[in-house]
Amino acid sequence: MVIMMKSDPFANATKQVNDACDVLGIADEGIREYLAMPNKMLRVKIPVKMDNGKIRIFTGFRSQHNNDRGPYKGGIRYFNPEGGVEYMEREVMALSSWMTWKCAIVDVPFGGGKGAIYVNPKTEKLSDDEMERLTRGFAFKISEIIGPEKDIPAPDVYTTGREMTQIMDTFSKLSGNKYSPGVITGKPISMGGSLARNVATGLGTAYTVRAAAKILKINLKGAKVVLQGFGNASTFAGEYLEKMGAIVIGVSDSKGSILIPKGAKVSKILEHKQKTGSVVDFTGSKKVSTEELLTAKCDILIPGALENQITAAIAKKLNCKIIAEAANGPTLPEADPIIEQKKILVVPDILANSGGVCISYLEWVQNNMGYYWSFDEVASKMEKNITQGFKDTYALSKKHKIDMRKAAMVLAVGRVLEAFNQKGIWP
Ligand code: NAD
Repeated sequence: MVIMMKSDPFANATKQVNDACDVLGIADEGIREYLAMPNKMLRVKIPVKMDNGKIRIFTGFRSQHNNDRGPYKGGIRYFNPEGGVEYMEREVMALSSWMTWKCAIVDVPFGGGKGAIYVNPKTEKLSDDEMERLTRGFAFKISEIIGPEKDIPAPDVYTTGREMTQIMDTFSKLSGNKYSPGVITGKPISMGGSLARNVATGLGTAYTVRAAAKILKINLKGAKVVLQGFGNASTFAGEYLEKMGAIVIGVSDSKGSILIPKGAKVSKILEHKQKTGSVVDFTGSKKVSTEELLTAKCDILIPGALENQITAAIAKKLNCKIIAEAANGPTLPEADPIIEQKKILVVPDILANSGGVCISYLEWVQNNMGYYWSFDEVASKMEKNITQGFKDTYALSKKHKIDMRKAAMVLAVGRVLEAFNQKGIWP
């Protein structure tokens, strides 16, 4: 049995696997444990010479959850969660598990991985040189287990194209100077990054909304959209839905929420935010509470900022037809049955925000080919994967009479199991 602890993110990930196994009729404890546990969890010590001449020891992790369908794939975050290093270890294991399922849902031939260093570059104000020594030190420590055919990291919380370039360069030099752009994704374009990566998550969310609207027979022309958050995922979701004919009538950021009864162009709201530092006080808008924003009457609600936003109390008051979770974990488990009862179609996070990993895959393909596609070529390939992922999830939700969140897990677990069964266990 996999150990379960209270408020343990890995216990949550394990529960989701077990729930999917229940639907699939997999009773075998050994197979359940195989699917839940990471294949490998590497914990490393990273000594760094700080600018003041002293040595500081950092702790880093790389969890390789499952590679039955392809190399491990998943971001590297620099963060310091409240529970400390031990909590981070469990969190990284959980996040690597979710990457396995996310890749399987959209049928990207990757498994799941995740990495982290326990450090907060924002609050600790590390210099650029210290950051580089830390990043290259970590890359050196994980270099034996990563590689274009083994494990392909990417950016995550507080890591950017700069860190990805440093990891790629360290890895390339350690591999006898073999240029290896495919060891990592999320690179700047000049380093072998892909076009459309910057808009990928929001664009993918918009594609899933379009697929959901088709099922519900909602005409996107004139459909009303509310965005929670006004960052990378949410603004691009808004902009692309706008291109599909929808109108944004509500947005929020860390300073507050607004409703715009007549609707407004995302670009205009962005201009206002760039000038004033917030979306609040946008012309023709009224300031509302978070609850009023989330429960406003609209066709499409996109929680695109934070986790744990849609509580049971908020779920009871929801007034939308589609929820597309651009953010990770915006809905609490107790809200799910209420949303289901209200017949709101949910595109779960693991599917709605998978445009990013789809385009990471396409970045890796381009690196391996040494040939690069246009923005439209990349976007249309991602559209195919994510729209099919939506259709497959929806079909399973109907077949098993389960909600979309469970259906997405059932789809993913079934796909990984199929690959595992082909190979069996060796040695
Ligand atoms: P971001 O930093 O670009 O944007 C976050 C936004 O949330 C900002 O506009 C911020 O003002 C807003 N915000 C912060 N606190 C808020 C509050 N209390 N109320 C309302 N808004 C608040 O981040 P992002 O990359 O867009 O990520 C957002 C979510 O999407 C996260 O859950 C992330 O894990 C998920 N996600 C992002 C990507 C991606 O490629 N960007 C991929 C997968 C998942």
